[in-house]
Amino acid sequence: MSHTDHGGDKPRLDQKVASDLQSVTRSGLLDYRSDALPTWCAGCGYFGIAQGITQALAEMETDIHDLAVVSGIGCAGRFPFFMGGYGLHVVHGRALPVASGLKIARPELTVMAVGGDGDGLGIGAGHLPHAIRRNVDITYVLFDNGIYGLTKGQSSPTTPQLQITGTHPYGNPDQPLNPLVLGLAYGASLLAAAHAADPETIKEILLRSLSHKGFSFVIIQTPCITFDKVNISYDKMRQGWDPMPTDHDVTDLRAAMDLAMAERNYQGIYYEDHRPTFHELDEETVRKAKA
Ligand code: SF4
Ligand code: MG
Repeated sequence: MSHTDHGGDKPRLDQKVASDLQSVTRSGLLDYRSDALPTWCAGCGYFGIAQGITQALAEMETDIHDLAVVSGIGCAGRFPFFMGGYGLHVVHGRALPVASGLKIARPELTVMAVGGDGDGLGIGAGHLPHAIRRNVDITYVLFDNGIYGLTKGQSSPTTPQLQITGTHPYGNPDQPLNPLVLGLAYGASLLAAAHAADPETIKEILLRSLSHKGFSFVIIQTPCITFDKVNISYDKMRQGWDPMPTDHDVTDLRAAMDLAMAERNYQGIYYEDHRPTFHELDEETVRKAKA
């Protein structure tokens, strides 16, 4: 198509872009984004996750000066660069202890930790059970794409057995971890899951998780469209996930475990309890010590 063929459409396109921009600006969503444009591959599921998280923060009218996002290493680790508020990009797998320490020191902040499956379930897996059982009041969002994306397609802890990857050209011999089961077994006081093709549900889950007092563990399945051509795709996510059954009792740990181990995936809250947070117990300890 020649340059002049665009002539008639361009003003209309510019008007459309300007009008879209105005409506996004009015929504307040840009307050929660930084000036840096995301460097994720076009079509990466992380855009849907970012949209859901941003919308939840905007809907809660979170003060941008009271928001801190901590990440480890990986494509998901870049998330704080694209967000407003305060961001910390720490070393592999260390998002959870850093986020926990930050929340303990500054309990008035909204603290989120984010990371991928390789970061959180592989290299940083040692921190996960202890951060969860400590029940510090933070939200951890695991971007689970079943592959190491940033380092170009190696098998991760959630890569299906026998999938061919960069590190396993004859098939991955290892059985994958189930982060939902792990989260429940470690004692997450809120456990939820969703997929990246549904930012609206991600937003709803984040609204509940960020309001929850205690450690909320949110697992989002998402496609790495560049390095995984077989396991996770947008079509598979739309077909392989159901809404959480309406009769599921989120206080029933055994029922949550059954759903976590089921063949199908469910979007929504699997489990929630309201036991004391680390902060509340710590205040009690200080009170006792002073007495
Ligand atoms: Fe997303 Fe994969 Fe690209 Fe990383 S490599 S930005 S996970 S599509
Ligand atoms: Mg990954």
